[in-house]
Amino acid sequence: MHRPETTTSDNTPERAVLVVMHRGASEADLTAVESLARRRARQVETSCVAGCAILTLRGAACTVDPALFACQRGVARAFGLDASFPKASTERGQGTVPLEVGALRFGGEAVQVIAGPCAVRDEEQLEQTAARLASLGVRVMRAGAFKPRTSPYSYQGAGLEGLRLLRSCADRHRLLVLSEVMDPALVSEVAACADIVQLGARSMYNYPLLREVGRCGKPVLIKRGMSATYDELLGAAEYVLLEGNDRVMLCERGIRTFSAGARATLDVAAVPLLKSRARLPVLVDPSHAAGCRSLVEPLACAAIAAGADAIVIEVEQTPDDALSDASQTLDFAQLEALLARVARVASAVGRELALGADRG
Ligand code: PEP
Ligand code: MN
Repeated sequence: MHRPETTTSDNTPERAVLVVMHRGASEADLTAVESLARRRARQVETSCVAGCAILTLRGAACTVDPALFACQRGVARAFGLDASFPKASTERGQGTVPLEVGALRFGGEAVQVIAGPCAVRDEEQLEQTAARLASLGVRVMRAGAFKPRTSPYSYQGAGLEGLRLLRSCADRHRLLVLSEVMDPALVSEVAACADIVQLGARSMYNYPLLREVGRCGKPVLIKRGMSATYDELLGAAEYVLLEGNDRVMLCERGIRTFSAGARATLDVAAVPLLKSRARLPVLVDPSHAAGCRSLVEPLACAAIAAGADAIVIEVEQTPDDALSDASQTLDFAQLEALLARVARVASAVGRELALGADRG
């Protein structure tokens, strides 16, 4: 159900900003910056440290913008003193706060595995995948029923009917479901079927959609846009958290750089960097970064070594029949080999893969 946008002023926190003037700034420069500060901030204090005037501003985050002050004449630097994303940020030294999805824990000691086709095609495909994932001990099945495709002529997904098929196959094998939503109007229906709602890389900037999934009551996985900064990704998470949904996970899936050969560049540093800034579990999808089957396993190993809380792998019985992302989709034997290898990497870094005990 649609609700009108929440206005920013409703939930804008207070922010403190420090503005450091150049040593050689004139009296006129200082007076001009002070007068701007008084227009924008609730409280302004000027002090002098080692011959530099320093202004401390307090006010609403939406009006006290460090960038505005940094570009004024006579200003050497201006920066915010508090967290820009208070809900996503880690408390002092607290690190990742684990969250529960069904009986699974993301962000704890164990590394979770999510796997399945890129897109829902038909029941046979889903049944084969669910059965095999369960036998390998994988406990979350992914598959998109709504596909964000570059070309409108490419396969767009099986829609709600496909999503329901996914749910019933997953239930038969006691698997949880991860699936993407693109349309704010469909959030409640996707959330009714999925255990984790995915926001794809292309949707990370869709603010009405972020707010809507923030109200859906299900855990949300936000994939990093292909040219998104960490601040932009954390801002997306903050939108969801602000609506009261506390179960948000981030996913690095490769960004655009100069790499030739891979579809994208897996930003391995994103894992420790995001974890140092946010309390949210950080997942890695090596499949979309790789773009080709042979690169998925080495990238998955790198992700686990870097501290990823879960990996997301595209797999199905006959990858060559996949209607999207066939080139990066593994078959089951390749998934099995990948799991064996990443399990060794996990144990080398003091963790273990969270595979179900019922595998065999
Ligand atoms: C997907 O997970 O199938 C997908 C479309 O991923 P991304 O949004 O990262 O491209
Ligand atoms: Mn895909």
